[in-house]
Amino acid sequence: MRVTEGGVELEVPGEQTEGIEEAVFYNPRQELNRDLTIATLRAYREREERATSYLDAMTASGVRGVRAAADGWDVTCCDVDEQAVDLARDNLERNDCEATVEHRNVNALMHDEPFDVIDLDPYGTPMPFADAAFANCRDLVCVTATDTAPLCGAHFNSGVRSYSAVPRNTDYHAEMGVRVLTSALARSAARFDVGVEPILTHATSHYVRTYLELEHKATSADAAIDELGHIYHCEDCLYREADPGLIADPLETCPHCDGNRMLTAGPVWLGPVQDPDFIAAVRDEIPYTFGTAPQARELCDTLAAELDEPTHYDQHKLCRNWGLPANAMDDFLADLRDAGYEASRAHYGGTTFKTDANIGEIRAATADSLE
Ligand SMILES: [Zn+2]
Repeated sequence: MRVTEGGVELEVPGEQTEGIEEAVFYNPRQELNRDLTIATLRAYREREERATSYLDAMTASGVRGVRAAADGWDVTCCDVDEQAVDLARDNLERNDCEATVEHRNVNALMHDEPFDVIDLDPYGTPMPFADAAFANCRDLVCVTATDTAPLCGAHFNSGVRSYSAVPRNTDYHAEMGVRVLTSALARSAARFDVGVEPILTHATSHYVRTYLELEHKATSADAAIDELGHIYHCEDCLYREADPGLIADPLETCPHCDGNRMLTAGPVWLGPVQDPDFIAAVRDEIPYTFGTAPQARELCDTLAAELDEPTHYDQHKLCRNWGLPANAMDDFLADLRDAGYEASRAHYGGTTFKTDANIGEIRAATADSLE
């Protein structure tokens, strides 16, 4: 089957049955992810001029590698699967792109050879590849995780095993995934005295994606570890509290409703996951010729405006919990701002938002308009 994406043409095997099964070699549902990757690489090249080499660590059809090579990167495509390697070679040739193609275990490759940018895009958890990625990468590690059920606590044991953290299934489950993933990656990088700074992060339908800029200094690794902590969450009233530090001090009862159905999640990343200036630069690098340009630009706008709060709320879930009708999002957020709080939309859904107000303050600020 022939597909065109981002100006390159690819041959991919087999019938595509979209929505039924994840395609092994080419997943059309990840086009937004790949469009944003190319825009991010363009913006990153402006930010860090020495960055020239890019490793597509699980290349499959070669789609990321071909697109990066067509954009001028010094690309290496790697896969353990022989069929994938052949396919990637064919697709590079088809587009007159030069790249190194490696048929080997990518962990061995990453330990052997330094790259400026490493892109981990495995099926499922990226953690089996994280240590090798941080061992030698110079500038930027891009990570996709598609195991959203383990990440958000819905598949609890699997999440604990993969991420050495306690994920909890809450009303902000996609963001739980973002913060569990970032925490695990920060701890992996810290083993190599590398500090991570997430500069763009999004949770989109069936995956989490984050771009981590690296700093090779022990003090930067310490600073990243300082961003970790725990979230205490009340299942009854949806109160939540962030507690920095690796030692948890869980709440027995909820400070808002006195309930005792409290959850503790962590260690999770509590720090910022977006760099608004960088995201604005990424947005400028999304041409209209990209298949997902409108969605990708809208996503960048929302991400750049998101407040740095470790969790978000969903207005509809709050209103259901309160037994009140929901309000238009703009009016709801205006009520919060009028009461003196910060408030922004969040990219996790059309009725999600972030605020520095706590659950009681949110209700007090908005209830008059809801009744
Ligand atoms: Zn409560």
